[in-house]
This record gives sequence, structure tokens and C-alpha cells, in this order.
Amino acid sequence: MRNDLTRYSSIHEKNKREIVMLRGTGCKWKKCRFCDYHLDFSKDEEANTKLNAEVLANVTGFYGKLEVINSGSFFELNEDTIENIENVCKLRSINELNFESHWMYKDKVQAFRERFKKLGINLKMKIGVESFDYDFRELYLVKGMKVHSPEQIGAIFDEVCLLQGLEGQTVESMRQDISIGLRCFDRICINIMIDNGMPVKPSREVVEDFVREIYPIYKYNERVDILLNNTDFGVG
Ligand code: SF4
Repeated sequence: MRNDLTRYSSIHEKNKREIVMLRGTGCKWKKCRFCDYHLDFSKDEEANTKLNAEVLANVTGFYGKLEVINSGSFFELNEDTIENIENVCKLRSINELNFESHWMYKDKVQAFRERFKKLGINLKMKIGVESFDYDFRELYLVKGMKVHSPEQIGAIFDEVCLLQGLEGQTVESMRQDISIGLRCFDRICINIMIDNGMPVKPSREVVEDFVREIYPIYKYNERVDILLNNTDFGVG
């Protein structure tokens, strides 16, 4: 359990929205070799519900859009928290909600779209794919998705996260992933790797290549979020 995190923020450019980082029972996968994010969890559901309610109380509905992230997948939040999210959306007139999920929960997405649609809320599902190079993603990053086709992922999810600045990537491979992401998804979020002590390390050269060759092209693209630092959205 971590108590040192900022859990509410708002994003005032591009896709303007509020964002909350809630806490669940933890990522069921936990094997991604670059990730320390899944360390934010608690098995104490009462404490999770209480903490999440406190965080959600900050939401104002200012932009009518709310992004909910947590230490893994939305489906790992408890039912009390999901009902609280629904209540906050109704109270604050939020009509677009963003959740993130691992591929393992793909079969649950549609039911949740319908559940929120009944409340007049458009659900946008985000997935961390990191790279569309299957072997890089599955053998090196150990993402645990076992799906080859970006179109197949894009048929279920609306937005995709990519991880760039890694050893083994090149300007060409990063461009290729961005291009596929923009073709198959509404929006993409590029996270630049930082050294978080996990086995997968950033490459200073590749990060410099990204900043020099790729960042200027997509910096002002409304469909592209770029997090040069993983707390750039103000949470974490
Ligand atoms: S699925 Fe997400 S939270 Fe879980 S280990 Fe992978 S990146 Fe981390």
C-alpha cells in the first residue's frame, strides 16, 4: 500500500478532463517487466472504498469528462467504488468516462459500456499495449496479451498506451507503433520510460531520439498525449 501518491488532478490541454487514481485489490497480472505501478494496492476492500470515496469527492465535473486509473485494471475496483463513480458522474454531470484495463478483461468491456450508457455516459476504454511488435511486447516486456492484431484490440478498446524510450527501440520502430496506434484507436498516450528500478530500462539515446525526431511531430496533435515523465498528468 502506498500513501505518498497524488490521486486527483485535472488536465487543461488537449483532451481536457479530470483524472483520479483510485486503489483496488491489485493487478492480477503483475508480470510486466517495466512496471512498478501495480505496487499501489490493498486487499482491505473497506479501506479501498473509503479512500476512493475521498478521492472522488474532489471531482467537480468542470470538463464533463473523468478519467479513472488504478493500480491495474478498472475491473479490479470493487462494486461499491464503481457505484460511487456512477453517483459522482450523475451528481457532476459527467458524460464521458475513461477506464483502463488489461486485455485479460476484454470480454467484460461491452457489459460495462452498456451499464454506463444507461446513465448517459460514454465509456472510453484505454489499454496499455506498449508496442505492436508482438515478440518485443510478449517476450521482452512480458505484457501477457497473446494477441497479434492491432485491429482486433482496436475493435474493443478506444485508446492505447505505448511505452517508448526503451533499449531495443529505434526511431523507426517508435514511429511505426505510433502510426498503428493512430490508425486503430481514437487516441494514443505515449509514456516515456523512466528508470524505476525494474528490469526494463530506459535508453538515454532512444529517449533523446524520441525528443528530437518524434516529439515535435506529435506535440500539438490533439489525439496524442505524451508523458515525458510518468507523473505529467498530475497523479502518481
Ligand atoms: S498489467 Fe498494468 S499494472 Fe499490471 S503489471 Fe502490467 S503494466 Fe503493471
